[in-house]
Amino acid sequence: MFFGRKNPFSATDAFPLSDAVMEFDESSSAAVRPARRALDGVGERPAPGAVRDWRAAGSLIALYAAALAGFWALGMVEADVLVALLAMVAAGAAVFGAASRTEWMRKMRHRHIKLAGVATALGAMMVLCYLAPVTQILLTPFAFVAVAYGVFIVPRRALLALSAGVLAAYALVVALHHAQQHNAALLRLEVLHLIALAVSLPAFVVLLGKVQSLYRSLHHASRKIKNIQEDAQRDPLVGCFNRRYVLAALEEQKQLADESGIPLCLAVLDLDHFKRINDELGHLGGDEVLRNFARIAQQGVRGGDVFGRYGGEEFLMIFPGTSLLPALNTCERIRAQVETYAWTGLLRGRVTVSIGVTQYVLGESVLEFFSRADTAMYMAKEGGRNQVVVEEPVARCDSMLADPSGYAAL
Ligand code: GH3
Ligand code: MG
Ligand code: MG
Repeated sequence: MFFGRKNPFSATDAFPLSDAVMEFDESSSAAVRPARRALDGVGERPAPGAVRDWRAAGSLIALYAAALAGFWALGMVEADVLVALLAMVAAGAAVFGAASRTEWMRKMRHRHIKLAGVATALGAMMVLCYLAPVTQILLTPFAFVAVAYGVFIVPRRALLALSAGVLAAYALVVALHHAQQHNAALLRLEVLHLIALAVSLPAFVVLLGKVQSLYRSLHHASRKIKNIQEDAQRDPLVGCFNRRYVLAALEEQKQLADESGIPLCLAVLDLDHFKRINDELGHLGGDEVLRNFARIAQQGVRGGDVFGRYGGEEFLMIFPGTSLLPALNTCERIRAQVETYAWTGLLRGRVTVSIGVTQYVLGESVLEFFSRADTAMYMAKEGGRNQVVVEEPVARCDSMLADPSGYAAL
């Protein structure tokens, strides 16, 4: 089974991919690969984009309110109109706030929620137009702003339908004004306004379509880049991190340890007599053993640890912020799990692993650190295989085993 993409590996993302390229368009998070969604916990917590959206919506409402306050200061509208606006904003916030806590809203797609928000804002503007005809001066610019607000997420067809709704609602407001006030001058002005809106709003939405398609292409490109970045870190055969990633992680963790002084451990793992397994099962059988081994090992490490394939049947485990004893415990547990795993047929009782583990000595090179772990692994081979050997840096072994950092055993 290939699990480069849909892999069962838990995240050991000590060095996760930058999400910068995926920052935009949370609406299409469903398109993000399922495994990635599970790792990232998408769907469990509110998307950061949604929070940003609500903040942007709040700012636009505040702008509209400021404009209306200006109208009031100039004596163009009564204070009642401002109160009506605030009441509608409060009611809208209460309804959306309460709905956002419901399961129903959580299941709703972001674009539908946004569409509902834009429609509510336009509806509120219509009410104000009805209450105070002079506010129609604000209607056109803010209708454009509201439609633009939804452009990256709401499909163009929905925006066109929304525009049609705005025009119909405005026509109704015009009709109501005329029926109640019989004011020919107001009617003329409102009809002119309606014509201007009827011509420009759909044109604006059509033009925004071009922005939408550009945005979509950018999004697809960024997703492809992200997938390529992810694949470049993974071993194509077993799905865990590859040599390049794990060595870069080792270098980075060494530097962090140098800066912070926190402990760091490294283990080299090598499957025992793997050549024989290949000889008996063929390379495909050997590959399957590699995959199962990698899965066992990956499941045996914590989230912050880094597990990767160094090459062939050799793997590395980096334990950041971990001193020797807990690292040794983890290695021993993995060794035992490999030995007792329910290997099938010929493999039963024959797949074992030798592990060498050591702790980083501040200031030493990655090569020295790695060589010590590698030497420990070879000592495990010489000692009869299927065992974990610790290579302690002599000067530091006491303090390391005492674990003054307080990191608990795994
Ligand atoms: P030891 O216990 O001393 O480690 O013995 P070993 O047989 O495991 O070690 P050796 O280095 O002699 O053999 C490793 C074998 O791993 C040889 C190689 O064909 C096999 N191998 C390396 N990469 C792969 C792979 O991707 N798939 C398979 N099926 N075999 C691989
Ligand atoms: Mg080997
Ligand atoms: Mg081997």
